[in-house]
Amino acid sequence: MDKKILVATTNKGKLKEFKQILGQQGIQVLSLEDMPKKIDIKEDGETFLQNAIKKAEGYAKFYNIPVISEDAGLVVEELDGYPGVYSARFYSVDYGGKEKVETTKDKANIKKLLRLLEGKKNRNAKFVSVIAFYNPEDFGFWAEGECRGTITTEPKGDKGFGYDPIFIPEGYTKTMAELTPEEKNRISHRGKALHKLLNLIKTVL
Ligand code: IMP
Repeated sequence: MDKKILVATTNKGKLKEFKQILGQQGIQVLSLEDMPKKIDIKEDGETFLQNAIKKAEGYAKFYNIPVISEDAGLVVEELDGYPGVYSARFYSVDYGGKEKVETTKDKANIKKLLRLLEGKKNRNAKFVSVIAFYNPEDFGFWAEGECRGTITTEPKGDKGFGYDPIFIPEGYTKTMAELTPEEKNRISHRGKALHKLLNLIKTVL
C-alpha cells in the first residue's frame, strides 16, 4: 500500500476502526505511536469541530504528511448534551460529580453516566463524530456523522470501546458492544463521517 495517512489518535479502539475502514480502501494507517518525534496538541476547543481541525492541522504541519483527526463523543439529551466533548474524561469533570477510576477510565465514565440517568425516563442519546482531513500542502476538509440511540440501565457486550456497552443504536435491540465490527462500522457515527470523506481523500493521496 503506497497511500499513507496519519490517524492522529492514541485511542486503540478508534484506531482499530479507522484501520478496518481505510485498510479496505488500500490506505495504510499510521498512528501517533509510529511517529518518532512527539508533540502534544491540546484538545481545548468547545466543539468537536474545533478540536478535530486543530489536531489535523497541527499534526499535518508538524509531520508533513496527510492527517485525519477525529473528535467524537456521546451527547445525552437528559444531561444537557454532556458528556459531549468531555466524553473521554467525563469521570473527572465537575458536572454531576467526579467518579473514581477503579479499573479503567471507560468503566468509570459508564458508571457515572448510569448514575446520572438513574430513574430517568428520557434516555435518548447520540454519538457524534467530526473527522477532519488536512493536507500539509495547506488545505483540508471535514465531515460529521451521527448515530442515534438510547442508553441502557446496565452494560452489555465486550466489543468496541468507550460507551458502546450502554448504547443501543436506533432500530436495534443489542448494544453497540454486541455488534460485529462490520455492523458497527456500517451504522456508527465514525463510519458515516469517514464514508463521506473517502472519495475526496482518495483523490488527494
Ligand atoms: P476523543 O478522543 O476526544 O474523540 O474522545 C472520544 C471519547 O468518546 C472516547 O474516549 C469514548 O469515551 C467516546 N466515544 C467516541 N466514539 C465512541 C464509540 O464509537 N463508541 C464508544 N464510545 C465512543
